Amino acid sequence: MVIGIIGGGASGMAAALAAAENPSAQVLLFERQARLGRKLQATGNGRCNLTNLQAGETGYHGDDPQFPQGAIKAFDPQATLAWFGQLGLLTVAEPSGRVYPYSDQANSVVDVLRFALEKPNIRVITGCEVSKVRKVGDGFSLTAGEQQYACDRVIVACGGLAGTKLGGSMAGYKLLSKFGHHSTRLRPALVQLKADWGALASLKGVRANCHGKILRDGALVAESTGELQFTEYGLSGPVIFEISRDVCQGAGQWRCALDFLPHVQEAELLRMMENRKATALSAEELLTGILHNRLGRVLTRAAGIRGGYIRELEQEQLLAVCRAVKAFEVVLTEPMGMDSAQVTAGGVITDAFDPATMESKLVSGLYACGEVLDVDGDCGGYNLQWAWSSGRAAGLHAGRETL
Ligand SMILES: Cc1cc2nc3c(=O)[nH]c(=O)nc-3n(C[C@H](O)[C@H](O)[C@H](O)COP(=O)(O)OP(=O)(O)OC[C@H]3O[C@@H](n4cnc5c(N)ncnc54)[C@H](O)[C@@H]3O)c2cc1C
Repeated sequence: MVIGIIGGGASGMAAALAAAENPSAQVLLFERQARLGRKLQATGNGRCNLTNLQAGETGYHGDDPQFPQGAIKAFDPQATLAWFGQLGLLTVAEPSGRVYPYSDQANSVVDVLRFALEKPNIRVITGCEVSKVRKVGDGFSLTAGEQQYACDRVIVACGGLAGTKLGGSMAGYKLLSKFGHHSTRLRPALVQLKADWGALASLKGVRANCHGKILRDGALVAESTGELQFTEYGLSGPVIFEISRDVCQGAGQWRCALDFLPHVQEAELLRMMENRKATALSAEELLTGILHNRLGRVLTRAAGIRGGYIRELEQEQLLAVCRAVKAFEVVLTEPMGMDSAQVTAGGVITDAFDPATMESKLVSGLYACGEVLDVDGDCGGYNLQWAWSSGRAAGLHAGRETL
């Protein structure tokens, strides 16, 4: 029995290893890029946040947020870590639940998978794009380059559109559409947000801890606490990724409200600033030592303070600085595009797939897993967990002798 797997990313490699657990299954793993796991290698800023201990009942989105539950329960973060342990990967969990390789190198994750794939019943074919899949009798014919490959079962593990430079493409959606599978609208998720604020250029590269809220016409849409990073075009960093889903998708004014001192009450901040009145410091130093210097100066200016000394500031002016620090609002214009996004929101409609096996309900022997499906997870390891769990479910089932 031959199982053709299209895509040698996270879910495709998990599927190949699961299918090959049946020694009589012959696995063909096709990867269009020169090597396996190219995107995986870039994950988590090169550290690869491979799962999150909290991944489970919550943290997943799509038209049917329950769809991923079956596969994730069957192969949960603990089972995933035990599996990686068997493959030889040492991991470490952070207090937040995010899990990384102990080496802090995404390469380690790709390497253990690559080594595990060196099995007699797995053939890895890299630099080989599958351009066509046809149903032939009970099986399939795959066209890759000039070659045709006959397969009994096919797993589409082509990933989503996000991260275009790392291999994100429309390929999986297109291959599945030929079999009657439709997709929902694709949007970038876990993505930087563009903002309309003149001071951004001077803040480029500044990092700050903050509580961020997305507001649509003043109403709260999403909120989170974590690290923010300013870029020349807008806002980035984990806190922004977490609240970026579906921002600016719809009418209204979209804003991001930022509290740069979420653990300090306004009264306490006011006291800290009042204490500086006894100094000979210039007004632009009001927040020095409290926030990043550049951010402190920008916020002081944004509160209307221009020149002079701290000792000359009125109470009203100190209160204005407090508001700038605790409730700064930036107008959002749009999210960055798919090439910058970490994950695709939307994808192939999951109603037409079995949540336990990832098999198509339209075409027997056809499977899909990973990001190509309409499932996207929160920031922090949820998306890779989905790739491992769905890939394993598809591989185990496709690798069985009889269905
Ligand atoms: C910069 C970045 C950082 C990220 N960091 C994290 C993180 O730390 N933690 C986390 O959980 N998630 C992270 N993600 C998301 C995560 O990487 C993806 O959700 C996950 O890789 C999806 O797995 P997949 O197998 O579905 O797709 P992919 O890993 O994208 O693999 C799909 C593979 O299929 C190949 N392919 C496509 N079409 C064909 C074809 N026709 N023929 C042959 N091969 C084909 C592609 O080249 C690709 O290698 C990050 C994403 C990006 C872009």
